[in-house]
Amino acid sequence: MSTRKKVHAFVRVRPTDDFAHEVIRYGDDNKSIDIHLKKDTRRGVVNNQQTDWSFKLDGVLHDASQDLVYETVAKDVISQALDGYNGTIMCYGQTGAGKTYTMTGATENYKHRGILPRALQQVFRMIEERPTHAITVRVSYLEIYNESLFDLLSTLPYVGPSVTPMTIVENPQGVFIKGLSVHLTSQEEDAFSLLFEGETNRIIASHTMNKNSSRSHCIFTIYVESEGRVLKEATYINKSLSFLEQAIIALGDQKRDHIPFRQCKLTHALKDSLGGNCNMVLVTNIYGDAAQLEETLSSLRFASRMKLVTTEPAINEKYDAERMVKNLEKELVLLKQELAIHDSLANRSLVNYNPMDEIQIAEINSQVRRYLEGTLDEIDIINLRQIQEVFNQFRVVLSQQEQEVECALRRKYTLIDKNDFAAISAVQKAGLMDVDGHLVGEPDGQGFGLGVAPFSAKPGKKAKSKKTFKEQLSSSARKEGASSPVGGKDLDVSISKTQLTPSSKDGDVKDMLLRDRETSNIEPPSLDSPKEELRPPRPSTPPSKPVAFEDFKNERGSEINRIFKENKSILNERRKRASETTQRINAIKQEIDMTKEALNFQKSLREKQGEYENQGLMIIDEEEFLLILKLKDLKKQYRTEYQDLRDLRAEIQYCQHLVDQCRHRLLTEFDIWYNESFFIPEDMQVALKPGSSIRPGMIPVSRIMSLGEDDQDKFSQLQQTMLPEGPDSISFYNAKVKTEQKHKYLKTMMGLQQTQRK
Ligand code: ADP
Ligand code: MG
Repeated sequence: MSTRKKVHAFVRVRPTDDFAHEVIRYGDDNKSIDIHLKKDTRRGVVNNQQTDWSFKLDGVLHDASQDLVYETVAKDVISQALDGYNGTIMCYGQTGAGKTYTMTGATENYKHRGILPRALQQVFRMIEERPTHAITVRVSYLEIYNESLFDLLSTLPYVGPSVTPMTIVENPQGVFIKGLSVHLTSQEEDAFSLLFEGETNRIIASHTMNKNSSRSHCIFTIYVESEGRVLKEATYINKSLSFLEQAIIALGDQKRDHIPFRQCKLTHALKDSLGGNCNMVLVTNIYGDAAQLEETLSSLRFASRMKLVTTEPAINEKYDAERMVKNLEKELVLLKQELAIHDSLANRSLVNYNPMDEIQIAEINSQVRRYLEGTLDEIDIINLRQIQEVFNQFRVVLSQQEQEVECALRRKYTLIDKNDFAAISAVQKAGLMDVDGHLVGEPDGQGFGLGVAPFSAKPGKKAKSKKTFKEQLSSSARKEGASSPVGGKDLDVSISKTQLTPSSKDGDVKDMLLRDRETSNIEPPSLDSPKEELRPPRPSTPPSKPVAFEDFKNERGSEINRIFKENKSILNERRKRASETTQRINAIKQEIDMTKEALNFQKSLREKQGEYENQGLMIIDEEEFLLILKLKDLKKQYRTEYQDLRDLRAEIQYCQHLVDQCRHRLLTEFDIWYNESFFIPEDMQVALKPGSSIRPGMIPVSRIMSLGEDDQDKFSQLQQTMLPEGPDSISFYNAKVKTEQKHKYLKTMMGLQQTQRK
């Protein structure tokens, strides 16, 4: 029943302009890589004397498209999985070498999607081709980081046993993770959403927890189940630990009977996939650059060790499925016979109990539509299967209508998900426009500016008190006889910068002018900070969001905007094709109806004129014969177009998702850029840059600005007590205040990170 198979090992080389032709050579059959080091480069790269290596593989993927990679690496594993063989696809390699690109692909671009979305597509296609099998698909996404298990889909609603902390459990059926959510998906789109959700959570977690990606290993699993038995498991991990290597080496060694799976969570969780009855493919991702040679060599060594491993793929059955199927088949035959007798007794000889084909389903769909429109009074009940299909088609029509309504609304209005706070605030802030450049008919054109609640409900008062403070300050400075005007200006810098939060709603010209003056007052003297001179000066009044957004799209945001536009045009093109295909389908359907009518007419003519029979065969005239041929042809066309339409719909769903993601990213990036360019004090940004995973612009401006209120008090106290020491002390205290500000800022960020984690 099973034969031993070797692990298939492929190498994928990340494209580079700087490929090391001198050092890396591919064999003519594209199944080997030779590495040759020149003597002088040897030192410091590897510390032994070897200068030549040769690695034999199952294939070298150089300049290979995502399409080709999928065909070569994954397609067979997936199709065998539907026949009951476990499969594992694994990417291994140095950080940045292309594991995520290979597995997930570029989430912004449909063309560049990776193995996982393609595998999900293939699974659902294959299930559709087997309509008589009751097959369910489930998905889970696990991350192992520093020996801790994380459920990357825990942000989604899930009804099931929640065990914390998660644990790896071994039982006679195999290894599974207790507490990991496993999500049922009935269609491609749901499965994609799960993948995207997991990817997003992975990225968020890696930012907020500042994870080192080389210690993160992810396993995406697709469970395909038919009649209660697990058919398939496709998993991947994104980089291996030395323990994985040890387990692999042990697996490759025929003499060993103990494999050290339990040494770490990764090998333990993958026990069934590595050593078990499993088709296994390894993609080793490497750089083609000479600078990365040391890591490349180590990755290639791993790949060739993997090739030594043999696995024994066996059908994954928990009980004697073959006998069960035979019994069920026998029972089915008996029941069908009984039903036939029953029908003939009840005079219902035309009933067909076979599964419905697409044409029949399309016919029911059209009945349902006509019923809903009111042109059909009732739908005749034929059998249970048909009733179920009628309900099914109700659901289909309903969801199509919902989409149509939504589309119509979208054409007219800019719709935003009420729970999507980022989008709401972005649009509110943008005031007039969304990313697509649609006008959001907002009557109050002053709504943009700052992305902050007004600093005070009464901006006038605030301005006044600020003024008073400044007056106090300068008069006290005068009193104390501070002679340096430079110092006086410097003092203002830290006070004003933290306080200058233009309120978003006041739009009061006087106030704006006041702000302008204050801002120009506080410009630091150029002597102090030569760095600031190099940067273009920050405008005293920030541009409005719509204006800034145009700049952003042309400059910093140009790449993401380009991708956004590209995806949108792909989406529109697919939509156009889908609508054309729908039109063609409708036309074909009409022709089918007309041909059927004509056939019926011919038939009734024939019946009226008396029928010819020849040895039990009906003789029909040429006209009728041609009509029958035509009908057959039309039905074939119908099926093909229908299949196209279904493929197009799946693509549209996927592209729509990409477009939404891009739009979201564009807005988020814009917000960050806008904050950083116009609101967050530059000294604070400079101070915060190194070592922080959060960019200053990610913090709501209100949080940063409000840091100033306390500091201001402290500063005025400081100023009163310390200034007597003379103007030289000013920079010292400035630094002190700034440091305090920075610490507070960091604390706020940590607070934010904690709330995000919750
Ligand atoms: P890893 O997951 O191994 O750390 P990534 O998949 O994130 O590496 O790849 C790093 C960068 O290189 C990404 O920007 C990715 O888009 C790009 N990249 C990797 N492989 C390819 C490839 N074959 N074609 C185009 N871009 C690639
Ligand atoms: Mg990665």
